[in-house]
Amino acid sequence: MESVAVLGTGIMGAAMARRLLAAGHPVTVWNRSPEKAEPLAAAGAAVAETPQAAVRDATVVMTMLAHGDAVAAVMDGPDGALAAMGQRSLWLQTSTVGDVWADRFGELAGSVTYVDAPVLGTREPAERGELLVLAAGPDDVRDRCAPIFEAVGKRTQWVGAAGAASRLKLVVNAWLVGLVEALAESIALAEALDLAPQQFLDAIEGGPVGAPYAQLKGQAMMARSFPPSFPLTLALKDARLVVDAAERRGIDAKLARTVVEQFARAADAGHGDEDMAAVFRVVTRDS
Ligand code: NAP
Repeated sequence: MESVAVLGTGIMGAAMARRLLAAGHPVTVWNRSPEKAEPLAAAGAAVAETPQAAVRDATVVMTMLAHGDAVAAVMDGPDGALAAMGQRSLWLQTSTVGDVWADRFGELAGSVTYVDAPVLGTREPAERGELLVLAAGPDDVRDRCAPIFEAVGKRTQWVGAAGAASRLKLVVNAWLVGLVEALAESIALAEALDLAPQQFLDAIEGGPVGAPYAQLKGQAMMARSFPPSFPLTLALKDARLVVDAAERRGIDAKLARTVVEQFARAADAGHGDEDMAAVFRVVTRDS
């Protein structure tokens, strides 16, 4: 059994740490705000006071932090986790950071083996250990990664050298954020046309245009209830990463730019800590 340090116990990191504990791995957790790490002690985790203390005896270090700046702040520098990691330890970088940061972390890792491993799925799949792990890194560490990824996910898709998984995650996110905006507009239009939005969801369910995600987020929009599974501020960060990557390559990503505008309006109106489905509030102008 690898002993795992989980750095970042927000919505996703806490759920993943619990799955690792349930699979029998010794787990040490660290979080910038200790109150989010402490509850994991009851599930069997050791709680560390610093990133370096968390990783010192770990053979695998998993980062699950908000964005690239946060990962750099925790891993880099004389007090950063990398400086305390053993040469044989693996760094599994699961936060969504985009292509530029993913490549930068490959350089920063130095002699530590770096696996670029963003995940698909939100709070509930994370709690059930049913994420999809997009993994990219050296072939010879796949067997070591397998039990870790199997604890948190139902499937691992290996996609090549480090950096490729974060690029694929950007592509999936381009699809996802557009879907949420389109869903918000469709539900709002149904209401405005005096239809029950459930009729729209029933019409698409099980058909070629009926994503299960639409059912999940559509119910939240209809109920105007947005407890965070995927906080809107992080979805805004992801939409910005999509626009940035697309524009650097000469693509006119008009839909993603519109999503950035809509999510930014929702965040400015105070809904950043709600689920990203709260973009519905700006579509319906109830923010
Ligand atoms: P979250 O609940 O907001 O947690 C964010 C974590 O990052 C917290 O541990 C937070 O610490 C930490 N953090 C933020 N800024 C930091 C800094 N400057 N230094 C150190 N730590 C910092 O977010 P989440 O939903 O777990 O998401 C984590 C990552 O997974 C993000 O990259 C997100 O895009 C990605 N992701 C999320 C989902 C989802 O549905 N939620 C799905 C797939 C991927 P504090 O507690 O101290 O603030």
